[in-house]
Amino acid sequence: MKLTVVGCAGSFPRSDSACSAYLVEAEGFHLLLDMGNGALGALQQHVGLYDLDALFISHLHGDHCFDACTYVVARRYAPGGPLPTLPLHAPAGTLARFARAYEINPGGSRLDEIYDERVLTPKSFEIGPFQVRVERTNHPVETYGVRLEHGGRVLAYSADSAPTDALVSLARDADVFLCEATWSSTVTNSPNLHVTGAEAGEHATRAGAERLLLTHLMAWSDPGRTLEEATSTFDGKVVVVASGDSYDV
Ligand SMILES: [Zn+2]
Ligand SMILES: [Zn+2]
Repeated sequence: MKLTVVGCAGSFPRSDSACSAYLVEAEGFHLLLDMGNGALGALQQHVGLYDLDALFISHLHGDHCFDACTYVVARRYAPGGPLPTLPLHAPAGTLARFARAYEINPGGSRLDEIYDERVLTPKSFEIGPFQVRVERTNHPVETYGVRLEHGGRVLAYSADSAPTDALVSLARDADVFLCEATWSSTVTNSPNLHVTGAEAGEHATRAGAERLLLTHLMAWSDPGRTLEEATSTFDGKVVVVASGDSYDV
């Protein structure tokens, strides 16, 4: 598997990064994990506008899904005619939510002409060449972390989450654990929203993950400090990702 960080900014875009979007490729199949605001532009640096094969939306916070609304225009009005529906793996109610965000005209075209909605529940299934398992994470809205397996390799993505055993389960013996590290330990943080760098490291250690990639840092976080926190609780390889980075998994 190849993982490309399309966007990694936490909660709102930065000048140097879109919000969450991660492109995973194997056997020529292109799966996008999340499509936050700003992601659609950055995505085209890595894959053709119409070369996505499936989209996975972890939850309906704007920084993880808003560009899937504007992408509707690109597919519906493509110069060569409307594109076939794109498989969309997402929490229940996603298309209805997108329709409200898109502001469809009364009697206007339906979004199920654009997306083939496949509702997420905690389960195992396949997306293209990937074996997939999702679990609910600890976040105020219905949110799914995901474990992808292909060719004996494992990539786990936390989505947004506060501390939870679900992250340990998803990242069990993972080659790469892409984990949010939104908070800094130096301030008091709201409960049940996100993890710190230290907590991301703790989960990676409990899971026995090989490599930890930290993402979704807030704009005012100090990446060096977050990295230090994570290395204090995790002995493996750990980095703070940047937009445009790619990794062989
Ligand atoms: Zn987020
Ligand atoms: Zn969120």
